[in-house]
Amino acid sequence: MIIDNKLPIFDGHNDVLQSIYLPKTGRPRSFFERTAEGHIDLPRMREGGFAGGFFAVFVPSNSPSAGFPGAGPGSAATAYEIPLPAPLDLTYARTITIKGMAGLFRLEAESKGQVKVIRTAAELTAAMECAAIAAVLHFEGAEAIDPDLDALEVFYQAGLRSLGLAWSRPNVFAHGVPFKFPGTPNIGPGLSDAGRQLVNACNRLGISIDLAHITEQGFWDTAALSRTPLVVTHTGAHALCPSTRNLTDKQLDAVKESDGVVGVNFHVGFLRRDGRRDPNTPLSEIVRHIDYIARRIGIEHVAFGSDFDGAIMPLDLGDVSGMPKLLQALRDHGYDDDALRKIAHQNWLRVLRESWKQ
Ligand SMILES: [Zn+2]
Repeated sequence: MIIDNKLPIFDGHNDVLQSIYLPKTGRPRSFFERTAEGHIDLPRMREGGFAGGFFAVFVPSNSPSAGFPGAGPGSAATAYEIPLPAPLDLTYARTITIKGMAGLFRLEAESKGQVKVIRTAAELTAAMECAAIAAVLHFEGAEAIDPDLDALEVFYQAGLRSLGLAWSRPNVFAHGVPFKFPGTPNIGPGLSDAGRQLVNACNRLGISIDLAHITEQGFWDTAALSRTPLVVTHTGAHALCPSTRNLTDKQLDAVKESDGVVGVNFHVGFLRRDGRRDPNTPLSEIVRHIDYIARRIGIEHVAFGSDFDGAIMPLDLGDVSGMPKLLQALRDHGYDDDALRKIAHQNWLRVLRESWKQ
């Protein structure tokens, strides 16, 4: 039953860990106090009905080109191209990754039961039933993992349940797309031999594989090899916004065929037809992408992938506390309770259950 459009939300991507814990990029704020900083804290999650999601551990590049891309509101030009940052050093990537993981585990401990790091589908269901925030430990890029995959085994034991094969830069396993608008995701090579081993190992362990940021060739290589549903945690429809970060119709069709799911990114630059990074972007732009994907591949294959704390949100949404407004916008657009439940959490839960096998 829906009360004030507060349906439990499970979300494909947030960057709250680096927003709060990482040096340089972190601002001094607490996860447990309501502030106007960033997009996520516990009080605002509760207001918005946020029940769980992928908590990304991300390793920033040191290079100056690694900032968030896109033409700003004051810019006349909308086209842009950010060169790929250099690959990361393994030791550096691992140090920062462990810092992010420690941040999540401390947050869980300090929450006194309000946040739970999830390792099985049963834990996920249980957390959502008892209203603990269900946090799935996700790595946005595989740079902290050695080609022998020793670290993968250790990170899995620690709780890693979702792995992005690449962020928008090369690594030993795969290549990410550069941020480019307009542009196609068919830009750069696919999986290396080590990348194929990594896909197999994720399948064996029960780690969900995230294909956000990867090149189209990397996507197809994974689609041909992986035995689990295809997952793209935070992306959009390329037909509506021709960014390298968005999925072509053919890629969307492949997600459907695998019974996978696409999390729609709320970053305005990946929503708008003109690619502009303008917060004055209506909520209807998110609805437009959800609607397109639902019509093309079915309501079972579309979900949310906000990118809260990692991107520029439409002003109408603001932050996570604005999620009921998005649900209302979808309802106004004709989505009924059944459809909204699928988009809000059921699709994510189905796919994770299938990927984790426990
Ligand atoms: Zn991302």
